[in-house]
Amino acid sequence: MKAALVRAPGQVEIVEMETPRPGPGEILVAMKAVVVCGSDVHPWYVASKAPAVLGHETAGVVAETGPGVVHVRSGDRVFVHHHVPCGACRSCEAGEPVMCPEWKPSRLHPGGLAEYVRVEAPSVARDALLLPPHVSFTGGAFVEPVACALKAVDRALVRAGDAALVVGLGSNGLLLGWLARLAGADLLVGSDPDPLRRRLALEHGFDAVVDPSAERLPEAVHAVSPRGADAVFVVPTSPAAVLPAVEAAAPAGRVVFFSPVAPGETWPIAPNVPYFKDLTLRFSYSSGPLETRRALDLIASGALPVERLVTHRLPLERTAEAFALAEGGGATLKVVVEI
Ligand SMILES: [Zn+2]
Ligand SMILES: [Zn+2]
Repeated sequence: MKAALVRAPGQVEIVEMETPRPGPGEILVAMKAVVVCGSDVHPWYVASKAPAVLGHETAGVVAETGPGVVHVRSGDRVFVHHHVPCGACRSCEAGEPVMCPEWKPSRLHPGGLAEYVRVEAPSVARDALLLPPHVSFTGGAFVEPVACALKAVDRALVRAGDAALVVGLGSNGLLLGWLARLAGADLLVGSDPDPLRRRLALEHGFDAVVDPSAERLPEAVHAVSPRGADAVFVVPTSPAAVLPAVEAAAPAGRVVFFSPVAPGETWPIAPNVPYFKDLTLRFSYSSGPLETRRALDLIASGALPVERLVTHRLPLERTAEAFALAEGGGATLKVVVEI
């Protein structure tokens, strides 16, 4: 079979690999749609994994089932999760499946960007979801990023009447905004230095946008919401993006940091103001089986028109181009690799 192997950041090659075979409890999925994630093109993140077959926002058709698989059959259309928790440990019981010791070692084999992927038994049992017939493979692949955004919106404790601020208006920023709106936010402000992304955010339902390279974000947010933003979502990780976002939070506001931060990155936060404003500063890393189910329900119900975020579709053979597009930002939102 063919797979897209990332040898180093920016170096993607289509290679021939042996088609994996499913063992007991496992399935083999013929991949149909893989959505490129920001992390697939973060140089430091890719460098930490390469050489590897990346791609973790995935949907496909079950091609073969191993012995003992009962709840999916060949021909079923499925979303499969890249990592899965045990469901029974202290972290799992606390509702923190991403911190389960079994979560990180689990994976897709060889990775999503391949013609066939072997899905481990725990993942088949706990986080392989059947796609309703009207949900496309692209919609199915969006289960993963939507699940991650849902967890972040949960962590921001958004409630009716909140003002929400999203810093960074790529596809994740738009998803966070949509979900904050569904959770009850009645004012949705976005910030991005890129004029194309600000325009897209307005077209996708944001009430106001700020150019942080032209005006100070906290003042701009206070101009439309005098108390500041009750829920703040920060997608970029540079101090230049993070510090003004914290400053824009309302008293008792919740600030959620969404993206992986490079090792060695530091944020010089002066805690005096966050302390006396009683802010909650939280990270939100990945998502688990509860969020993936809710994400699929939202996509299936039409409440989240995820396909509107797709700006490019390319075949597996052109994965290098798909990654370059995703890295380029600007008017590119989600790039789908179709297999
Ligand atoms: Zn991702
Ligand atoms: Zn566990």
